[in-house]
Amino acid sequence: MVRHTLNLIDRTHDDGNLNKISVITTTSPNAVGSYYSTDTEGQYIAVKPKSHHPRMTMAHEVGHFLDHRGFHVPTTGLTGDLKDFTPREDVGKFASEYHADFQEWRDAVRASQGFKDLTSPYHRKCHECWARSYAQWLARKDLQLTSELQKMRPDWVGVDQQWRGVWRDDDFAPIADAIEKLFKKKGWLP
Ligand SMILES: [Zn+2]
Repeated sequence: MVRHTLNLIDRTHDDGNLNKISVITTTSPNAVGSYYSTDTEGQYIAVKPKSHHPRMTMAHEVGHFLDHRGFHVPTTGLTGDLKDFTPREDVGKFASEYHADFQEWRDAVRASQGFKDLTSPYHRKCHECWARSYAQWLARKDLQLTSELQKMRPDWVGVDQQWRGVWRDDDFAPIADAIEKLFKKKGWLP
């Protein structure tokens, strides 16, 4: 399942010269996946195979890895406009929070109804919005991820009705455009 997502990512976009990162499976009752890192290095990704959407979880955690290690990290002068996002203590660890190239993406997320409807401070964190939007963007390119995405939508039976972490397709379109522009600028998309 993890391999499926990695193959999809390899087919979809370049990612420069990122270091390798280990992937392990987890049976944690608390999380379907996690990205473990120090401030400056990715350590490993954990994915729980027994969930409704392990491929999407893998995409989400790779999203964190790209956000953390794929973009240059300035040591001073963080410029991100983080209005409306839940602040983090160690802001600046993830490029989505401050990198100028993410500004259009940040604007698109804030303007979306899916973001406005979010009530959980955790889900309103900028880097969590990034990981979810990256996974949803990838899902547009793959049937298996698309079918997992359907199970993450609030109208899917069995999902917590409060969950609004997945954008409606029309609501998501400007966010997807912003991701593509960002990756093109980065040289990760032709
Ligand atoms: Zn996350």
